[in-house]
Amino acid sequence: MSKYYLIMDIGGTKTTGALFTEDGKPVDDYVYVVKSQTYKGEEAVYQNTRSALDHVIEHFQVNMDDVLGIGVGGPGPLDVKRGVIIYSPMMGWRNFPVVDRLRQDFGKPVIMDNDGNLGALAEQRCGEGKGLDNVLYMTVSTGCGGGAVLNGQIYHGRTDGAAEFGHMSINPEGPQCPCGGRGCLELYASGTAMNRRMRADMEAGKQSGAFAEAGYDPEKLDGGCLTRAAEAGDAYALDFYRQEGYYLGCGLANLFNLFDPDVFVLGGGVTKAKKFFHDEMMKQLNQRTVMHVTEDRIRYSVLNDRVVLYGAYYLIKEYLEKGK
Ligand SMILES: [Zn+2]
Repeated sequence: MSKYYLIMDIGGTKTTGALFTEDGKPVDDYVYVVKSQTYKGEEAVYQNTRSALDHVIEHFQVNMDDVLGIGVGGPGPLDVKRGVIIYSPMMGWRNFPVVDRLRQDFGKPVIMDNDGNLGALAEQRCGEGKGLDNVLYMTVSTGCGGGAVLNGQIYHGRTDGAAEFGHMSINPEGPQCPCGGRGCLELYASGTAMNRRMRADMEAGKQSGAFAEAGYDPEKLDGGCLTRAAEAGDAYALDFYRQEGYYLGCGLANLFNLFDPDVFVLGGGVTKAKKFFHDEMMKQLNQRTVMHVTEDRIRYSVLNDRVVLYGAYYLIKEYLEKGK
């Protein structure tokens, strides 16, 4: 009889559920997505979140006797050992014991880690860093989430606070970040930061095909407009992406000087435009590092929006194997 793992990726805006085979394939390539509810209290948010798994179970008519365990990716900060989400402003959760609740509801072993760490784990186990000892991962999307696999294992640090790459300051006098710091990388390099900068430039009267495409409406201006303008050779858009490469290169240089990883894997929506920022990023990276970083040490995620699901699969699978 085939055995399965239930897998979920809890995010600030949506939660994704999937069923994985014992050897690590999402069954039928099927995922179920529920939008997060943020306004009805923590219990309602939990019920909505777990419904991603309920839908998967119903879709495949899963017999729970065939489920070995549940692997979960959660939004940081969290307490990995206790399985608690410490604070998720998007979901209205404070110290929410999501692992205990899932264990009670489904009667199966459950384990959780943060989404950045699971991104790194997936890339090291089956992705762009497969088989290498030291793999760093960063997603560049709404924010800049990071993860580190060192000597083949997730590096958590003392309080599960390690690998917050997005909150590395690249400008000590820069703007205030909600984390308490100033000039954090994600205030410059994330998709959110890019949108903010584009809108400011448009309002300041700069000219670009991206602004024209959006009809000069800030609500319609997004990364897609910018990429299409860059494709058409628009000077503003090309310069904007060079600037993105500059910020990413500054951040990556710090991380290479700290870790000298085998590979660094970049994922997230912004990396779809890699051809417009890659060269400047490599230039900054090599100007600012003590070692020479060859092209093959920078990889772009192929797993991309499934990366956390794959990471959560390896997390629960290896957790159960260790227990035996
Ligand atoms: Zn910060």
